[in-house]
Amino acid sequence: MAHLITLIPGDGIGPEVSEAARLVLDATGVEIEWDVEEAGERALEREGSPLPDRVLEAIGRSRVALKGPITTPVGTGFRSVNVTLRRELDLFAAVRPSRTLPGVRTRHPPLDLLVVRENTEDLYAGIEFERGSEQAAALRRTVLELSGAEIRDDAGITVKPISVTGTSRIVQFAFDQARREGRSLVTVGHKANIMKFSDGVFLRTAAAEATAYPDVDFEAIQIDELAMRLAWEPETFDVILLPNLYGDIVSDLCAGLTGGLGLAAGANLGWEYAMFEPVHGSAPDIAGRGAADPVAMILSAAMMLRQLSERTAAGAVEGAVTDVLRGGEHVTPDLGGTATTGEMAKAIAAATRSILSGS
Ligand code: NAD
Repeated sequence: MAHLITLIPGDGIGPEVSEAARLVLDATGVEIEWDVEEAGERALEREGSPLPDRVLEAIGRSRVALKGPITTPVGTGFRSVNVTLRRELDLFAAVRPSRTLPGVRTRHPPLDLLVVRENTEDLYAGIEFERGSEQAAALRRTVLELSGAEIRDDAGITVKPISVTGTSRIVQFAFDQARREGRSLVTVGHKANIMKFSDGVFLRTAAAEATAYPDVDFEAIQIDELAMRLAWEPETFDVILLPNLYGDIVSDLCAGLTGGLGLAAGANLGWEYAMFEPVHGSAPDIAGRGAADPVAMILSAAMMLRQLSERTAAGAVEGAVTDVLRGGEHVTPDLGGTATTGEMAKAIAAATRSILSGS
């Protein structure tokens, strides 16, 4: 039976890399029934909302989505569609592998890191109070009354909730994932010395949950030290487990360590739904020029195939990406080549077919 997949092409380079991923998935021969749903800028223009209800309803039916990046206005405008999707579908775990691939020039020895990011809480939860609003004034009064702390009256406020419930499940997920992948160390990043009651919950809950996994080592380090060590000796890490905001930043950092955003794939997973998307954004600076590297989206699609238990196809796509990168001929400008997004995708599709046919 065909897999029903919701495809959200997204904004900017999203449609280009989505088409590339679709071409490669077609080459695997896995039967997929695509339900293409627009979200983001075009949906806002046409339907007045960047995330119309039909998109969530579609994922409700398929349970699995492949998603291109969606633009979020900075500072003002609509709330992030990405954050809303993760929250509405309770996709609490972001899984972002950073592996050095052959033929890709990097500044470090080969790395194989896995960032696991809590996806629903923290400063990213979207609990915000606008500067000058009545709500912000009320919150300032309450904070003053409860803690004696004065917040300036021209401050905007973002709330940082981190719960034991939200942390327990992501810690268990990270350790289970470490076991599944044969990894031996989980490092938790935090700033619990300053944010005692939010990062403190994350740290203490992680340390408590870790005791159930005696076969996987656990270490906890402050996020600033973690940043320094990632630049200095990234090979000393294995799984890096982080609250939402640090995870956002550090997964881009890890992408940079292993060849750039054009290669960094990701999955957002919950108990009921899964959404696969590249780490990168909509890259408006290169959109529409055929210059986007399709690998991040294609490897996200390979992660999706694995989740659908299409392991042979997933392995073939990953092998094909490796072959094309190693060949160095059909690669996009970010990798030092001159191929367009479509040309690189065609080469990966052809390599996928030859791996699957054993030739
Ligand atoms: P970005 O990831 O879009 O771009 C950062 C840099 O990386 C740019 O120079 C870009 O050209 C380059 N780049 C990104 N992807 C590439 C690819 N596949 N091939 C080659 N080069 C690539 O980050 P940004 O500019 O900070 O964000 C642009 C928009 O994307 C913003 O509106 C942001 O909110 C949104 N965004 C969305 C998501 C998502 O949908 N999950 C994630 C991150 C950012």
